Amino acid sequence: MKVEFYGHVRQYRNIQAEIDANLQKVLLSGNYVQGPMLKQFEAELAAYSGTKYAIGVGNGTDAIWLTLMALGIGPGDEVITHPNTFFATAEAIWIAGATAVFVDCCPKTKCICPDKIEAAITPRTKAIIPVHLYGQCADMIAIRKIADKHGLKLIEDNAQAIGAHGRGFKIAELSDAATTSFIIQKNLGTFGDGGAVVTNNPDIDARVRKLRNHGSNQRNVHSFGFNSRLDDLHAGVLSAKLKHIDAWNDLRRKWAARYTAGLKDCRTIDLPVELPGYRHVYHLYVIETKKPEWRDPLLDFLVKEGIDAKTHYSIAIHQQAGFPWGKGARLVGPLTNAEANAACCISLPMYPELTEAEVDYVIAKVREWDARHAAEAPAGKGPAQCGAVCDSCR
Ligand SMILES: *Cc1c(COP(=O)(O)O)cnc(C)c1O
Repeated sequence: MKVEFYGHVRQYRNIQAEIDANLQKVLLSGNYVQGPMLKQFEAELAAYSGTKYAIGVGNGTDAIWLTLMALGIGPGDEVITHPNTFFATAEAIWIAGATAVFVDCCPKTKCICPDKIEAAITPRTKAIIPVHLYGQCADMIAIRKIADKHGLKLIEDNAQAIGAHGRGFKIAELSDAATTSFIIQKNLGTFGDGGAVVTNNPDIDARVRKLRNHGSNQRNVHSFGFNSRLDDLHAGVLSAKLKHIDAWNDLRRKWAARYTAGLKDCRTIDLPVELPGYRHVYHLYVIETKKPEWRDPLLDFLVKEGIDAKTHYSIAIHQQAGFPWGKGARLVGPLTNAEANAACCISLPMYPELTEAEVDYVIAKVREWDARHAAEAPAGKGPAQCGAVCDSCR
């Protein structure tokens, strides 16, 4: 059996009529850039997010650095995040001209560890960017307290968790803004690139709106800005898909629960941890091998059996050969949990359009590999999940 990593075409087929109708509407309207479809989608996204404003931009990376720039954060400033995320989180900080400061993640959730943040704060620190990694929210309540104590801005990198919520908080509720990406592989994805900023702050809304459009909100009048807009064709696709996002996330949760039930007695791997009271939307279902040297053999075995498993992310940002030390990146404390995650992670196929037969096939193949190695399995958690547990993980 073959199990693909993505279900893009299946998803398109399932709602083709709705998407095609929106595309036709845009094509026949003659308005393709900052037209009525973008306006409509921005209103729908703001309503869905429970925020006053939503601004469509070119991609998820731009969404982050445009927000940093709107907040006046740039050269000489420091922004704290964690190194086990997609490279773009850090890249956006560098594009804004600021210094990226990395602290470790929690061993259970893989999100930024609130216990590690305060040691990284200096007089130059201006903001924290927690990432809702793999589809589960970072502990925004704990992070908000730290931000308040030190007068810091908070930007949620929500590229992976649209539709998630934490225990007692919603995304964008406790921060200055949340940014998201609509590249096709995200939970809400268009056929290409796209992104957005959602916020309750009218200044951030006005500034990002101008910055994305050559510094202009009035014809022929400009200040310093860029070109980073969400095209109306993409807005049309996203408007059609947004109506389905909760049901799609429910399906992701259903497949995650099936993986977890099918794999929980495996001796050679640790499974993702879902915190009580959180809605994890499983952008990715990431298992971790209990020995780093098992990761590649298990991954190779799955691929050989027709399962398109991948890794997210097998090289932490500070381990990248292209890590721009010269731009003033700073590491704070040991990054043990993040490094173990990079060494041990395997992402199993995860998307709403999977079938029961496909999920069961993946489970059977992981179990087959596990049975062969179970006798050599160490007791307890593997290196990626054995770190000291903080209040957020508890
Ligand atoms: C995808 C992603 C981004 C970047 O989004 P693009 O639309 O590809 O620019 C940023 N942060 C995280 C955590 C992501 O997963």
